[in-house]
Amino acid sequence: MGTAFTDESKRLFLGRFLLPEEIEPWIRAQSLGSLPAIYGVTHHTWAPTPATWKGRSSLDGIFRYYRENLGWPAGVGPHFFVAPRERGGPWGVWVGTHPRHDGIHVSGWNSRSIGMEYVWNGDLAPFTPEMLRIGTLVWQAIERKIGLPIRISYTRGSPGHFMHRDKSPKSCPGNRNDRAAIIDAYRASTQTQIPDFLEDLMAQLTDEERDQLLADIHNTALASMEQTELQKRTVKSGQALSYRVNALLAGVLSLVEEEGELPEVVRAELAKATEAGFTVPGSA
Ligand SMILES: [Zn+2]
Repeated sequence: MGTAFTDESKRLFLGRFLLPEEIEPWIRAQSLGSLPAIYGVTHHTWAPTPATWKGRSSLDGIFRYYRENLGWPAGVGPHFFVAPRERGGPWGVWVGTHPRHDGIHVSGWNSRSIGMEYVWNGDLAPFTPEMLRIGTLVWQAIERKIGLPIRISYTRGSPGHFMHRDKSPKSCPGNRNDRAAIIDAYRASTQTQIPDFLEDLMAQLTDEERDQLLADIHNTALASMEQTELQKRTVKSGQALSYRVNALLAGVLSLVEEEGELPEVVRAELAKATEAGFTVPGSA
């Protein structure tokens, strides 16, 4: 029956295969650190493909290539590979770099982002629904584990989920993969944990305002993750929605600061946030 998993986060590289039903229990058993990754980045391998995938030896070969040809540190690469167990075998996910540790998979965005590779050539055909289902199980389990959503991103350059090509002049995860279809698949299946007041606020902004806000939130989130002990304590004590919401609110505030005046809609939403017990950065 169910396998009992243990925390393997002290290891950088795992090379372990999980069947779909093992994904949630495995992630539940892992420590993801006090500042868990908050971005999800989708990739395709281009090669190997399911037809040439041999399981662990293929995964090892990929990491050997990173180390020997690209000069990356041993065991550091993408975190998850949606792939068959072996050629023709059942599909699941291979764990490469443990998700507690920053990997290498997208230049400039490796800090606190989870890299998910699909063993597939997305320039020839889009991911299958089954592949996306397995990828989504991973995101879902991570969200449950850390109690935060990875999902506020529907435009280029915004945080949350993004495609490698959003940040790099590559086709990855492939020309045949429509970013909206992938994001929608993730969105439909992952949890909606963003508090209502933020959803309400987002809904009232124009597309441009929302893009600006999301870009701002991203920068603020990165800055706050790097600097504030307060955020770390918040995460540790499991209060409010922790640093993610604080970062969102800080993003709202910095946007407002730039424009000089607090729009009525923002003021109302912040009041609701404060009422709901969320810490509004800078207002202490
Ligand atoms: Zn990529």
